[in-house]
Amino acid sequence: MSSKDTNEFVKFVLVVDDEEINREILGMILEGSYEVMYASDGQEALDTMRAFSDILGLVLLDIMMPRMDGYQVLEEMQSDPSLQKIPVIVLTSEKGAEIKSLKMGAADFLTKPYDRPEVILARVRHSIELYENTTLIQSTENDSLTGLYNREFFFNYCERYTKHNPDAAMDAVVININRFHLINALYGRHFGDKVLCAVSNRLRHVIQVRGGMACRYDADTFYLYVPHLEDYEELTNNVIIGVTEIIKDGDTRLRFGINSAIDTSMEIEENFSWALQACNSLRGQNSGTYAIYDSEMKEKAVRCARLMDDFETGISERQFKVYYQPKFNIKGNEPRLSSAEALIRWEHPVYGMISPGEFIPLFEDNGLIQKLDRYVWTEVGRQISEWHEKYGVYISVSVNVSRVDIYAHDLIDFFVNILTEYGIPADHYMLEITESAYTDNSEQLVNTLQELRALGFWIEMDDFGTGYSSLNMLSVLPIDILKVDKAFLSNIITDARARKMVELVLDIADFMEMPVVAEGVEKEEEYHILKKLGCDVIQGYYFSKPLPEAEMTKLLEERADDVR
Ligand code: C2E
Ligand code: MG
Ligand code: MG
Repeated sequence: MSSKDTNEFVKFVLVVDDEEINREILGMILEGSYEVMYASDGQEALDTMRAFSDILGLVLLDIMMPRMDGYQVLEEMQSDPSLQKIPVIVLTSEKGAEIKSLKMGAADFLTKPYDRPEVILARVRHSIELYENTTLIQSTENDSLTGLYNREFFFNYCERYTKHNPDAAMDAVVININRFHLINALYGRHFGDKVLCAVSNRLRHVIQVRGGMACRYDADTFYLYVPHLEDYEELTNNVIIGVTEIIKDGDTRLRFGINSAIDTSMEIEENFSWALQACNSLRGQNSGTYAIYDSEMKEKAVRCARLMDDFETGISERQFKVYYQPKFNIKGNEPRLSSAEALIRWEHPVYGMISPGEFIPLFEDNGLIQKLDRYVWTEVGRQISEWHEKYGVYISVSVNVSRVDIYAHDLIDFFVNILTEYGIPADHYMLEITESAYTDNSEQLVNTLQELRALGFWIEMDDFGTGYSSLNMLSVLPIDILKVDKAFLSNIITDARARKMVELVLDIADFMEMPVVAEGVEKEEEYHILKKLGCDVIQGYYFSKPLPEAEMTKLLEERADDVR
């Protein structure tokens, strides 16, 4: 490999001279060290500069040329922001021309006939370096800590590299430190900085060996652009060593997301966003230090983007359908229909039926959830009143409330309006709040729920047993009903301890006079155990799956007496 096509950046120099022999001489001197382009007049020079302004390192400019001379070129360059900063060395044999050109912005001059090649090369190198250093100083200010490129500079260089090595296979790698905030919190910021520097040093080492470039993207995220590798063990281990050398507890690890052999026809930032996605897929996971962006992730990303794009149409065309899963009271001899939970489904025109487990987390991340939930809440209000008209009973229905919803200033008004509009008593409209929202320990959540309760709404704590709530929280939080999650019940048939745990929860709830709903009951035996332990209400496939509106209506028709 010549120095031009190694990982060092290829530097581009434009030689502008109307005389072919002069172009040839300079070309011969420069071509061993630089990529040389040529122009034979001023206009051609400006055109070339504009086309390659982002990669051009230097212009060697003859002053005496027909039509447009070197001065005019300098003048044009000064008035064009994209060309202003490119250093120019003027080529002249005229006395006095040096001063004039330096005043006009030239960086240096070479007099004809030319000096020895070494002198020319030295002056060229000097001008390029001077230019790069000033650019570097300006743009790396932001990362004085690690000395790595900052993101703008980095992307710019990646793009230049790819533009001029279109056939080189490259990998985009994103590196993140797991729970970096904990390192700062436990050991102090100074130590945190030390870790960041250790990672940077290892990355520098990697690029010295393999080529490529690295940057600190933000606090604890690093980007690496390297010639394509088949195996990532060595690379990742090489970087990890840097961290394990200073953090000995073995708890803190790095995660790597790799977009392998990137698609260079796409923007470099997009290529890195895919590597980032791979990196994020490892969040919270304990096994595997790196993930490679693959077609599955790509499909998932495409599907997510599509779902977000289709959301508004989905709402306006009523593709979202509310299903109702009945809950049965098992206190008496025979189970009786007591209420239902509203669960959303999306009948997507292309993907078919999509479950909320897929789209709810997506919409929670970008705020669309509020609109969707309000759509469901209104729909449920309408449905309760329709059933009331038909069968003369109010069946209680619970709706799911996302933790994001809680913080809307008009939440309470919205619910109250539904009751007013559809003439529903508040105690037939129940709100399910997931347990993990309570662990946010937010005063606002507690206040809002207290207000809603005071208005007569019933509050259910959903998914109890999946988060970290302690049992004593139950006595202080505003809750009317406890919904025990499926995961909590999973082993009650085979495991006596699991059974004991459920018994304990039921006892405490009983003591606090709080009814318990057991969710996800699938087997007859589970039902019998729960009944024996004193559980009040059961929701699960054992009795019924979530039903579309028409089927729920049919069930209600048969069992209206249950709810009377
Ligand atoms: P969730 O509120 O805990 O709802 C219970 C989930 O358990 C439902 O899943 C239900 O279909 C499922 N399930 C019920 N019985 C059984 C059973 O016996 N076995 C098994 N394996 N599963 C059972 P689904 O409908 O897929 O909903 C998943 C989650 O999506 C819900 O969990 C809830 O957190 C969320 N969700 C659903 N609809 C809405 C909505 O309108 N708004 C919001 N914010 N979240 C919703
Ligand atoms: Mg629920
Ligand atoms: Mg639940």
